[in-house]
Amino acid sequence: YMALMAIFLVLNGCSVKSVPTDAIDKQVEDLLAQMTLEEKVGQMNQYNGFYDVTGPAPSEGDAKAKYEHIKNGWVGSMLNVRGAKEVRRMQSLAVDSSRLGIPMIFGFDVIHGHKTMFPIPLAEAASWDLKAIEQSARIGAIEASAEGLNWTFAPMVDVSRDARWGRVMEGAGEDTYLGSKIGVARVKGFQGDDLSANNTIAACAKHFAGYGFAEAGMDYNTVDMGTVTYYNVIFPPFKAAIDEADVKTFMNSFNIVNGVPSTANKYLQRDILKGEWGFKGFVISDWSSGREMIEHGYASSLEHAAELTVKAGSDMDMESYAYVKHLVDLVKAGRVDESMVDDAVRRILRVKFELGLFDDPYKYCNEKREKEMIYHPEHIAAALDMAKKSIVLLKNEEATLPLKKSHKIAVIGDLADDKDSPLGNWRMAADDNTAVSVLEGLDAYGVNYTYTEGAKLVTGPTAFSQELTVNTTDRSGFKHALKAAREAEVVVMVLGEHGLHSGEARSRAKLGLPGVQQELLEAVYKVNTNIVLVLMNGRPLTITWADEHVPAIVEAWQLGSQTGHAVAQVLFGDYNPSGKLPMTFPRHVGQVPIYYNQFRTGRPGPRNEVFWPHYMDESEKPLYPFGYGLSYTQFQYTDLEVAVKSKHQVEVAVKVTNIGDRAGEEVVQLYLHDKVASVVRPVKELKGFEKIKLEPEQTIKVVFKLTEKEMGFYNGMGDYLMEPGEFEVMVGCNSEEGLRDVFVIE
Ligand code: BGC
Repeated sequence: YMALMAIFLVLNGCSVKSVPTDAIDKQVEDLLAQMTLEEKVGQMNQYNGFYDVTGPAPSEGDAKAKYEHIKNGWVGSMLNVRGAKEVRRMQSLAVDSSRLGIPMIFGFDVIHGHKTMFPIPLAEAASWDLKAIEQSARIGAIEASAEGLNWTFAPMVDVSRDARWGRVMEGAGEDTYLGSKIGVARVKGFQGDDLSANNTIAACAKHFAGYGFAEAGMDYNTVDMGTVTYYNVIFPPFKAAIDEADVKTFMNSFNIVNGVPSTANKYLQRDILKGEWGFKGFVISDWSSGREMIEHGYASSLEHAAELTVKAGSDMDMESYAYVKHLVDLVKAGRVDESMVDDAVRRILRVKFELGLFDDPYKYCNEKREKEMIYHPEHIAAALDMAKKSIVLLKNEEATLPLKKSHKIAVIGDLADDKDSPLGNWRMAADDNTAVSVLEGLDAYGVNYTYTEGAKLVTGPTAFSQELTVNTTDRSGFKHALKAAREAEVVVMVLGEHGLHSGEARSRAKLGLPGVQQELLEAVYKVNTNIVLVLMNGRPLTITWADEHVPAIVEAWQLGSQTGHAVAQVLFGDYNPSGKLPMTFPRHVGQVPIYYNQFRTGRPGPRNEVFWPHYMDESEKPLYPFGYGLSYTQFQYTDLEVAVKSKHQVEVAVKVTNIGDRAGEEVVQLYLHDKVASVVRPVKELKGFEKIKLEPEQTIKVVFKLTEKEMGFYNGMGDYLMEPGEFEVMVGCNSEEGLRDVFVIE
C-alpha cells in the first residue's frame, strides 16, 4: 500500500508531505543499494559554484575538475550557485549525466532576506516578535527558492556575549532562551509546513558548537568551556531547532573546542547531536573546516582530516576536497568503515527526498516564479514592518522625539546617505546600493532638511572579502557640518558602522564609533546640543559619551532594504518604537564579555572596602542592559501575583498599563533565579516574554506559566534537574527593572 501510495503521489506530481517516513526510508535504502562507493562519497561532497554556467563548459583547472565530478556523480551539493536558469543547468549536469541521476541540493547563505533584505538577524531579534521573524525567514525562503535554491545555511543560533565578535550581527544576541525561540521561528519560516513544497527550503542550525565564544571575541579563535555552559547556554537553541522545528541540517564550526576542532568533534556530533538528541538530518562542515584541521595541528594531512571528520560524524564536506579526494581510499584501506559512509549518505538522501528533489529536481527552477517573487510588493512591505519593529529607542530626554516636520533639521553623517551599509553583511544575493537610505526615507516622508556628510566613514574599496579602510584622518568636512548644525533647531546625526564592520572575520578590539565620528559628534555638540543620534551598526557599541550628553538616541542597526522609511517613521512618530536590546551594551570594551545572566560572586557589592568585584576605573554596570528599550508612551507594571500550582507548575501574573497618551507595544519579560542549587544558577535568566499592544489607559493582564522546562537546569553531566527550593521571580520591562517576588517549590 505504501509503495502504491508513493507511486500515486509521484504520478500526480503532488506533495510528498504525506509520504510516511518509512516510505522515504525505503526509497533511501533502495537507492543506497545501487550506489558504488565512489557515488556514495560523492553525495558527501559539496563544491562552491565555479563558473558562469550560461557560458561554455570549462576547459581546464579546478572548474573543469568540478564539472567532470558532477557528471560522474561525485558531487552531492553546490553552494553559491543561484538563479533559476543557472541552477537548472547545473542540476542537469548531475541529473542527466551521472549514472544514477541523483539531484544535487543547492545551498546558499540566506541570512536576512534574499533579494528583499530584512534587518540583520541581531536587529530582528530586538523585535522580540516571533511571528514577524518567522515571516522574515519565510520570505527569504520564498525568494531564495524562486532562484532555484533549496537549502539555507541559517539560522545561526550561536549565543554570544562578546560584542567584539563580528558575527553577533548574524545571531539573536546573548540570551539562550530568546535565542532558542528565535531560532525555532526562523527554522519554521524557512522550512514551512511542507518541506516538499517548491517555496520552502531546508534550514541549517549553525555553528555547532561554541563558535560564538571565541576567545577575545576574535573570529575563528579558540573556544574553551565547561560542560555546564555547554548544556545550559550553548546547546539549547540547537536542541530546540530539532525538537520544536525539525531542522534538517546542522553546520559545525571552524573553532577548536576544548582542544578538538568542532568538525572532528565526536562528542558534539555523534554523542550529543546524533546520539542523545536523535538528530536524523545531516551535518555539513563549515567552509573548508576539514582542511583547516591541518593548520590547527589536529590532522597531519588532508587524508587524515577526512578520516577524522567522517569518524566524528561530519557528513558533508564544504569545499575541503577531503572526502572527494580521500574517502574512497580510506574505506578501501579499511581505515574507515563503509557503514559510516552509508550513514552519512542516508542522511543526505533523506533530506533530498523530503525536499521532493527526486520527484522533480527542477521544481525550484521556474523563471516565471522567480520574476514574480523577487522583490514582491508584499515582501517589501514585510521588510518595512520588520525594520520598524527592530528599532530600539535608547534615550529620549524631554521628549526630544518624535520630531516635527516644522523643525529646522540638519542631517549629518556619511551613513545617512549610504544605500549599501543598511543592507548589512551576509547579503550575498542582494543588489548593491538598493537600501532606502535615511535621506531618501526623509525625502519620501516629506521632510525638509539640510544634509552634510561631516566626514567619510571609509575610504577605499568595500567588498565582502576585503579589509575595510576607515577614515581616521580626514576632518575637512567638519566645518560644513558645524555650520549646518549651528543653523538648525535639531541635528539628526547618523553614525555607526559600515555594513562590513560586522560579519565573518569582522572582529573589533574597540567598540566605539569608528574613525573620526566620535570627534565629529563632540564637535557638533559644542555648537548645538539638540542632537538625535541615529545609530547604524551590527553590534553593541560603547556610546557612553553620547548617552551622557545627547538627548535622544535611536538604535537603527542595519535594517535592510527599507531602512530609510523605517527610520523616518520612527523619528516623526508615525511608528512608536518597541524594540528591546537582545544584547547588553557595555560602557567600555574592557567590560566585555558583559551579560545580564552572569553568576553571583561570593562578594556581592558594593562594599565599603575595595574587596568586591568591580573595576577601579569604570562602573561594573552596563550602559544599557539586556531587554532594554523605550517607547514614546509609558508602561506601568502592577499587581504581580505568583501562584504555585504544583511541584512543576507556577503561574505568574502581572498587570501592565499604558499610562502615556499614545498606543504602544511592550515586551513584558519574566526572569527567574533559583536561589540555591546543586549547580550555581545565574542571578537571573529570561524564562518568558510576551509582546503586547496597549492603547492609552488600557491595562492587560499577562500570565506566564512556568514548568520544569523553565525552572530546571542541566548539570555538568548533561542531566536535566528540577530541584525544590526558593525561586526569585522578576517581571518587568528589561533585565534590571521590574516587580519582584519569591516562591517556593516543595
Ligand atoms: C561561514 C558559514 C557560511 C559558509 C558558506 C563560512 O565562511 O562560516 O557560516 O555558511 O561560509 O558561505
